[in-house]
Amino acid sequence: MNVILLGPPGAGKGTQAKLLVEQTGLTHVSSGDLFRAALREGTELGMLAKSYMDRGALVPDEVVIGMVMERIKQPDCAIGVIFDGFPRTIDQAKALKIEMAQHEKAIDAVLYMDVAREVLLRRIAGRQTCKVCGAIFNIYYFPSYKAGICDICGGKLYQRSDDTMETAQRRLDVYFEQTMPLIEHYRGEGNLREIDGRQDIGQVTEGMMQALGIDIAESP
Ligand code: AMP
Repeated sequence: MNVILLGPPGAGKGTQAKLLVEQTGLTHVSSGDLFRAALREGTELGMLAKSYMDRGALVPDEVVIGMVMERIKQPDCAIGVIFDGFPRTIDQAKALKIEMAQHEKAIDAVLYMDVAREVLLRRIAGRQTCKVCGAIFNIYYFPSYKAGICDICGGKLYQRSDDTMETAQRRLDVYFEQTMPLIEHYRGEGNLREIDGRQDIGQVTEGMMQALGIDIAESP
């Protein structure tokens, strides 16, 4: 099964992707995480991506497409993928479809999470991520028990450099302009499932599992 998580920055795609991976055993492919990993490794790709990410702009299609297509050729993706943050433009969606078709695969479902803009801003600007295990917290909605420390592994929490209020505003504008057209695109393809992203984390996961036709109790 191959699934796309679609929604604005701050909707909870990363959080839900991790929970869905636990429930389904599918492989999580996050284009933003791939860029951040490249940046940590100090590669050219990482440096290039940073110049766009820090402005809240999208990295050019050809760069993102090349990176994600390489990633999904890895053996761990054969079981199926949860795409998080990709595609973000119609051209990326088209490229993904062509690549999948070449391997006799298809996107089975696009889970679209919607959340109001004011909530998104607080979700983005309040987000804290664990340096060690990648767990996500939020100082307003889902704080860690001890400030700045991950509840799961005790690692240090940090704020992403593109999670400031100013960059968040820009990222939302970019989303509304360039990524929202994907909603109609996938609705037209017949595989869009809408999930109310304002619900609490567990309810959103449940809604997603239902939309995928998987019983939570039966999953691994
Ligand atoms: P994310 O972690 O998904 O919020 O992505 C962080 C940043 O990485 C975005 O604001 C973009 O600058 C860049 N990025 C991630 N995925 C894509 C994509 N599919 N297309 C273009 N830029 C992307």
